[in-house]
Amino acid sequence: MWKVGMSEEVGKALQAVVDRVNQAAARRPKTLPVVPPRLVAVSKTKPPDMVIEAYRKGHRNFGENYVNELVDKASNLQILESCPEIEWHFIGHLQKNNVNKLLGVPNLFMVETVDSVKLADKVNSSWLRLRTASTQTLKIMVQINTSGEESKHGLPPGETVTTVKHILSKCSALHFSGLMTIGRYGYDLADGPNPDFQALLSRRQEVCASLQLPLEDVELSMGMSTDFEHAIEVGSTNVRVGSTIFGNRDYPNTPTPSPEKKSKVPTEEAAKKMERLTVTEQ
Ligand SMILES: *Cc1c(COP(=O)(O)O)cnc(C)c1O
Repeated sequence: MWKVGMSEEVGKALQAVVDRVNQAAARRPKTLPVVPPRLVAVSKTKPPDMVIEAYRKGHRNFGENYVNELVDKASNLQILESCPEIEWHFIGHLQKNNVNKLLGVPNLFMVETVDSVKLADKVNSSWLRLRTASTQTLKIMVQINTSGEESKHGLPPGETVTTVKHILSKCSALHFSGLMTIGRYGYDLADGPNPDFQALLSRRQEVCASLQLPLEDVELSMGMSTDFEHAIEVGSTNVRVGSTIFGNRDYPNTPTPSPEKKSKVPTEEAAKKMERLTVTEQ
């Protein structure tokens, strides 16, 4: 199951990604807000040992996309003991009936996937009930479906301003931190800047202009293993990187693509397909 030596690999891969993040940030045009990008290490399907190893190397921000897996990992005794300052990001689809469970997660730092007014209200009322006197507002991002694909969750882009306005005025327990998108998989950067990232940038422009918010107060969560450098160059402040740090994910029963079907990275494609299927099922 868990091979000796894997954890050292994690440390090296993490350092390489951190370096690439910093180099990409240095290439940003000066017109963009100077916000150091945050690297969220996406540990889904990976064992607690890998999280602990990355934490030992100084990493603090981790992401999970299933509520149950996040609950298990965040409550894991070894993680609780070795990683007291861990900051968990929830980056998966959230259903209302799972909100209480999610908000009970120890060291929950941010929920990146609020995608409706109703869900915002539910997260707000639950946090009001669950938070202790010492805890502050809960950081949330609003997830936008920039690609308009049915398989993707997220708010229709046209509803961004009204939703953010609602959160700012009605959800006192929430801190609106920014906008998040997943976007279309496999976009070829040879065709120009990723249109999903451009769409998120223009929604931020719109939100900031309409609601009089400074640009640097509204984060952008965009960019994954294949495109995090480009995402940072165009203004991402929060990249979510999984497989480049922790290695490819194994999914049981992942359909093996037929050899005649040419694809650049068949296993990863199949895993992404699997992810889409499971995400839609949830
Ligand atoms: C899995 C996942 C990622 C990380 O994907 P990689 O391609 O492995 O970097 C990022 N964001 C979300 C929402 C995910 O579910």
